[in-house]
Amino acid sequence: MAAIEMKHIVKKYGDGFPAVNDVSIDVKDGEFMILVGPSGCGKSTLLRMIVGLEDITSGDMVVGGDRVNDKAPRERNLAMVFQNYALYPHLTVYENIAFPLRLSKQFSEKEIDEKVRQASELLELDEHLERRPANLSGGQRQRVAMGRAIVRQAEAFLFDEPLSNLDAKLRGQMRTEISRLQRRLGITTVYVTHDQTEAMTLGDRVAVLKRGILQQLATPRELYEHPNNLFVAGFIGSPPMNFLPATVEGETVSLPFGKVSIPPEKARLAQGKGLLIAGIRPEHFDDAAVVEPHRLEHGSTFRAKVDVTEWLGNEAYAYIPIDLPAEIQGQLTDLERELDMEALRPQLVVSLDAASRIGEGEEAEIFVDARKMHLFDPESQENLT
Ligand code: ATP
Repeated sequence: MAAIEMKHIVKKYGDGFPAVNDVSIDVKDGEFMILVGPSGCGKSTLLRMIVGLEDITSGDMVVGGDRVNDKAPRERNLAMVFQNYALYPHLTVYENIAFPLRLSKQFSEKEIDEKVRQASELLELDEHLERRPANLSGGQRQRVAMGRAIVRQAEAFLFDEPLSNLDAKLRGQMRTEISRLQRRLGITTVYVTHDQTEAMTLGDRVAVLKRGILQQLATPRELYEHPNNLFVAGFIGSPPMNFLPATVEGETVSLPFGKVSIPPEKARLAQGKGLLIAGIRPEHFDDAAVVEPHRLEHGSTFRAKVDVTEWLGNEAYAYIPIDLPAEIQGQLTDLERELDMEALRPQLVVSLDAASRIGEGEEAEIFVDARKMHLFDPESQENLT
């Protein structure tokens, strides 16, 4: 097992904009690192540079303390687990796992047998050793692919969107399985996905990329609670954070639906900044009628007409249209384009407590928790709070 250090990595294809632009990420020994971002952000290119399938334009790639920029993929001893698992259909599970050992010609039959049995026990495949891949479930196939990596004692696992072809239910199961195995094996893992649920549930830390640039590298909780900028704030969380035009005077934030008092330490950071973007997650609103009194103290309430409600069994959302002056709406639309995202809509998404009885078309008192509000600078897009 080994740590992987990416130091100021740049990748240019031709003369264009760099696909990966000065990215530095340190993956600790045994850590589960996620690379996440929208299509084209450079996450697969970065993974391919780690494993050696792509040249590095500049920067250092260090695996287990060794600079590997000029090493061939097979000299790096990293195991890429592909989306289609790349198993040999005509070989049994046993032979599939034994394959890399036979290929290396370094081991006796007895040693191979020991290693395969050890790995298959660890992966709970010992009862399926004589089956062929066609007769295995998706999860079992994934484990065979990991078994191959384990027997050759790879320094790290690298996954490129391994679950993207599966249906939602199987994806959920496989996610749990990969997480369980990675923790049991304690093997350094770098995992590429565009799915934020995978990013949030699997990663010890998550690197969020946009257009080749690292936006934030943090634990899932930090990303969710303290996003560095508008992009991360809008990308992490579902339904996404609400963004609203805001101005701050003293300790009062003026929002399209009214004024909200914010804690002085937050207010101080936003003084004299002109128009800002307030970011509030759906769960930091609620139906004021069911909010506990002690929570009400930490926010404000406003009246609003609920357009649509969505009841999902364990949660419910209310959609509240917001009227914005045309000029501000125009500014928000420009920002939305710049951010490649759809989060800036002229409507609020409010998460409702199960006890709420607000119906569609009704006017209701809505609570907003002022402590949880973020304030972003629309120019730099950074989170000021
Ligand atoms: P996706 O999720 O769609 O796979 P990604 O985040 O993995 O996207 P990359 O595949 O790493 O993104 O691509 C990053 C950028 O580099 C994209 O703009 C892409 O068009 C470009 N790119 C990737 N491979 C090549 C190549 N071989 N030649 C030229 N440009 C490339």
